[in-house]
Amino acid sequence: METHVYDLVGVGIGPFNLSLAALLDDIPEVKTIFFDQKSRFDWHPGMLIVGTRLQVPFMADLVTLADPTNQYSFLNYLSKKNRLYPFYFLQRLDIPRREYNDYCQWVAHELKNCRFGNKVVELDYIQNEEIFLVRVEEIKTKETITYRCKNLVLGTGSVPAMPKSFQGLSPEHVFHTAEFLNHQDRCRKAKSITVIGSGQSAAEVFRELLKEQMEHQYQLNWITRSRSFLSMDESKLSVEQFSPDYVNYFYQFPQEQKDQIFATQDLLYKGISSHTITDIYNLLYEHSVSGEEINVGLQVLTEVKRIQEKGDHYEILCHQWQQKKDFTHESEIVIVGTGYRPNIPDFIHNLESHIHWDDKGRYEVEADYRLRLDIPNQIYVHSGISHSHGVGSTNLGLAVHRNKIIINHLIGKEVFPIYNKYVFQNFNAETF
Ligand SMILES: Cc1cc2nc3c(=O)[nH]c(=O)nc-3n(C[C@H](O)[C@H](O)[C@H](O)COP(=O)(O)OP(=O)(O)OC[C@H]3O[C@@H](n4cnc5c(N)ncnc54)[C@H](O)[C@@H]3O)c2cc1C
Repeated sequence: METHVYDLVGVGIGPFNLSLAALLDDIPEVKTIFFDQKSRFDWHPGMLIVGTRLQVPFMADLVTLADPTNQYSFLNYLSKKNRLYPFYFLQRLDIPRREYNDYCQWVAHELKNCRFGNKVVELDYIQNEEIFLVRVEEIKTKETITYRCKNLVLGTGSVPAMPKSFQGLSPEHVFHTAEFLNHQDRCRKAKSITVIGSGQSAAEVFRELLKEQMEHQYQLNWITRSRSFLSMDESKLSVEQFSPDYVNYFYQFPQEQKDQIFATQDLLYKGISSHTITDIYNLLYEHSVSGEEINVGLQVLTEVKRIQEKGDHYEILCHQWQQKKDFTHESEIVIVGTGYRPNIPDFIHNLESHIHWDDKGRYEVEADYRLRLDIPNQIYVHSGISHSHGVGSTNLGLAVHRNKIIINHLIGKEVFPIYNKYVFQNFNAETF
């Protein structure tokens, strides 16, 4: 057991907690330590496809929106890597996703309070000492150490969501888009591949497979339940919904109304970037030059009910919901793009009796990202807060603002100024 009492222990080091760790680096009086089970920072590695871009401008790095002079800014990373000139001539705001990962790895490496290869496995609370006990297992040695802290921050992110009816099949042949790069070589040898779903990840995987199709000659299919391969709503005024103003506006509603609003906002985060759709269309056009038959199928309005093994293939049971017609489709490889779900660690249930839960079993979260607890200590949360803070909860462009709020609360003074208005449009009737 470590005897030292930390002010804050961080669980998980994805971009959200990494940003917090970076911003806290300039505040040495706050003693922090962050843990991640991975051996090093690695941002959705199975989806770091060459050519994919960050869906927010590079300014949504780990620190800039709080403090553009911070040493962990993306521009300083470029400067340290002697890449400022290429970036200047590139003239783009949307950097390659692989570069964002490399930038975060650089920051994680520079920070002294980030420990990788360490999984948080247990959590306890000592009531009379008002202290959390955090049991951490070093992955390599299996040794555990218990850390003591006053406050916690959960940044455990999300995990791939695979419908039950698609589970239990060979992971080499039926896998989530999150695993794509691990199986790309296998895909190159396949006779037929089917991608299910029409979110950004499914589209990026389909585009990559389409690019290589001429060389590898597999039959390629794409099936979606949606009425169309819908484009994400990325207009400048729409993306103002990923602003602190909109988060505050959304937060004020009763939970039932929040759930209703959230259910109408699919296209802000579930559709496909228009540049990805354009790339796909251009490739389809190119493949069909001189009227050639292309070995590609795009099927909309179709729900996949089940996938089952059939010899060396998989049978996909489909339902065209508008025509109300069932049909089957065969494929050697099936790639499932059914999104992600929040990763709420089981150990949170050790504190179950101290946490306020809503009637759907979700934890209640204060406006300043603290779990609603009946103890004086704080658990700040980044993950699983879409129900309380809305559609921007997983958006990287809001990470820094959220961390400003968390730091101000943790320290008990306004280290980072918070303004009332950040965007042009107004959401509240009373402030118009
Ligand atoms: C493929 C993909 C691309 C995306 N692209 C964008 C984009 O361009 N722009 C955008 O705004 N959003 C994007 N998102 C959404 C979102 O920003 C990311 O999911 C982001 O990674 C969320 O960061 P995070 O810090 O919450 O969690 P994560 O990045 O998921 O990290 C959580 C970390 O917690 C660790 N962990 C979990 N449990 C434990 C434990 N018990 N002990 C120790 N460590 C633990 C995990 O190992 C992991 O490293 C994307 C999402 C995906 C899936």
